[in-house]
Amino acid sequence: AGEGVAHVATNGQAADDGKPIIRICDLHKSYDDLVVLRGVDLEVKRGEVVVILGPSGSGKSTLLRCVNLLEQPTGGQVFFEDTEITAKGTDINAVRAKVGMVFQSFNLFPHLTAKGNVMLAQQKVLKRSKEEAAKVAVEQLTKVGLAERVDYKPSQLSGGQQQRVAIARALAMDPHVMLFDEATSALDPELVRDVLGVMKELARGGMTMIVVTHEMGFARDVADRVIFMDGGVIVEEGTPDEVFDHPKSDRTKDFLGHIR
Ligand code: ADP
Ligand code: MG
Repeated sequence: AGEGVAHVATNGQAADDGKPIIRICDLHKSYDDLVVLRGVDLEVKRGEVVVILGPSGSGKSTLLRCVNLLEQPTGGQVFFEDTEITAKGTDINAVRAKVGMVFQSFNLFPHLTAKGNVMLAQQKVLKRSKEEAAKVAVEQLTKVGLAERVDYKPSQLSGGQQQRVAIARALAMDPHVMLFDEATSALDPELVRDVLGVMKELARGGMTMIVVTHEMGFARDVADRVIFMDGGVIVEEGTPDEVFDHPKSDRTKDFLGHIR
């Protein structure tokens, strides 16, 4: 990269230095007249699992999309491993490789097999050879429980299996952080468990994760910290026990009351 181009550090697996891996400072985002984020501050430490809850339209997806630069914030800053990624000239592809994201919709290429889908960005973005990309793809697909399905096309896989391919695709890039945006919301109930299981395993393995979900059991079980967003701000945050059992804000109480 040329002069003045922001670099993304590649020392993501370094020992915990106590510094946050992600630092979001006074983040604002508007779409024309619609103000969606009104000053969000959030730090995420290496290895931490942060679950974000909140009603529809509260800005959860927009926040995640600002972290991997699918959206450009209208104000504030996002730092990733000491680099301000919201600065001009940031290498967006480098950020997206290091900050993996899994969406509600899996967005797999229908004409490619599971393996082909997991290989693609490795070759295009990381410039891995076909052989290396295939090897990593099989490893990651095995990790998400799809060793027997590497040669299947998306149409031959269940929704839960397709979502696990999408997770393997993100993991194949060796991300330092994983963002999950309602990764199980589009799935039939019986398929949700396998995907949550993969996410839980990842968390246990020390992956730094920000997870937007309505799965309260998962949040209780896996989150180090729970954040409740409403109206484009963080209303409340704490441990799962604090937020679920002793919510301070009326808005949090109201939300939890409805979802239970
Ligand atoms: P959540 O994920 O919490 O449901 P979102 O971040 O998706 O909330 O959306 C917050 C608000 O921003 C909503 O009112 C939504 O309609 C609006 N919004 C999101 N994306 C766009 C966009 N690309 N253009 C205009 N408005 C948007
Ligand atoms: Mg959303």
